[in-house]
Amino acid sequence: MSDTKEDDVFKQRLTPEAYAVLREKGTEAPFSGSLLGEKRSGMFRCAACGNQLFESSKKFDSGTGWPSFDEALPGAVEFIEDDSHGMHRTEVVCAQCESHLGHVFNDGPTPTGKRHCINSVCLQFEPENSSTQGEGKVD
Ligand SMILES: [Zn+2]
Repeated sequence: MSDTKEDDVFKQRLTPEAYAVLREKGTEAPFSGSLLGEKRSGMFRCAACGNQLFESSKKFDSGTGWPSFDEALPGAVEFIEDDSHGMHRTEVVCAQCESHLGHVFNDGPTPTGKRHCINSVCLQFEPENSSTQGEGKVD
């Protein structure tokens, strides 16, 4: 998985912080993410590949310090059993580029019962009325 050409592309495209979380399964510090308080309507995309992941209507304030969603878009993410760090958790990865996004827990406050705990640095927010809807928009 390492030193592939694909990883080089991600390294160029992502900040070191984003790369460490998305591609090396890191975790950002709680309450550090720029999208934690994002309350506008729109779409949260994968920061690595632009895949649409979560609608803003699915976002809720979990109090954990990470953006939390009760449901992902159908087929947008995949779930992987994760037994690292002496815990049994379920990892959430992007279904398109397999980048690490966060974890999902079964203690959500909404009818889905799910709490997708996602690193802000793994997400790009696209406001609903944004006129720049260009695909693959990378700066
Ligand atoms: Zn992705």
